[in-house]
Amino acid sequence: MIVSVASGKGGTGKTLVATSLALSLSDNYKVQLLDCDVEEPNANILLHLALNQSQPVYIPIPRVDEAKCTYCGKCAEVCAYNAIAVVKGKVLIFPELCHGCGACSYLCPESAITEEGREVGIVERGGSGNLELIQGKLNVGEAMAPPVIREVKKYINPANIIIIDVPPGTSCPVIEAVKESDFCLLVTEPTPFGLNDLVLAVEVARELDIPCGVVINRDGVGDDKADRYCQEQGIPVLLKIPLDRRIASLYSKGIPLVEGMPRWSEQFLRLFQDIKDIIAASRVTK
Ligand code: SF4
Ligand code: SF4
Repeated sequence: MIVSVASGKGGTGKTLVATSLALSLSDNYKVQLLDCDVEEPNANILLHLALNQSQPVYIPIPRVDEAKCTYCGKCAEVCAYNAIAVVKGKVLIFPELCHGCGACSYLCPESAITEEGREVGIVERGGSGNLELIQGKLNVGEAMAPPVIREVKKYINPANIIIIDVPPGTSCPVIEAVKESDFCLLVTEPTPFGLNDLVLAVEVARELDIPCGVVINRDGVGDDKADRYCQEQGIPVLLKIPLDRRIASLYSKGIPLVEGMPRWSEQFLRLFQDIKDIIAASRVTK
């Protein structure tokens, strides 16, 4: 089972929820936590696992054999990302813009394009007991998050429970991380910003046809508009984590909620049971 933990907005407590859910479940199940927030993976700030395996992630970028090239311009025409240009008898390649889609090499009529790897990030792995952490890390200044996320997801073992810590926002990296999930847990906070981004995140989940539910973090800080929105939209609010100085203090010290306040473990196990029930019900109605 794959459960994505997402939020339209950064800083809502998504990683707090993902790590506490993973730790609670790992008492009884084999769990893989995938940190796909590759621009700023921070699950391990809470988990403190030794990440003893690491491998680079490459994307294939074109290299032109000038001896074969006729400067016909077809490669520049097919590139949807403006990563290749043909000017005055020269082919220019802009590696930072290249998505490694392979269209230019496939369509070059002279077979003048080969591909070479460009490193865009790394995948690191480690674990303890029933819990394995796989985290992607994008190189500084790099914009190509989806290839790193795809590489992280290659380590999914379907026999395990998979928790995915999704990047914030609603753009391509989010889609890449969330797609193929069985459930999307949306973490929000009861503020106007939180609600605005929750609405966008719900649209993403619906577009991908993934059942979703909401966790309201810092409950009590704002108003009840997120609650009312969920009620109107028929989206279950599965857990509320109160605005509590002790919880904030644990987080600031890098201590997972369920370790600092073990009674929360029961709430996360109940949350997981609710998620399983919703997934089962959604499969019946499909
Ligand atoms: S498509 Fe091939 S032959 Fe044409 S300009 Fe590009 S590299 Fe050269
Ligand atoms: S591999 Fe794709 S993105 Fe990169 S230059 Fe070629 S067509 Fe453009």
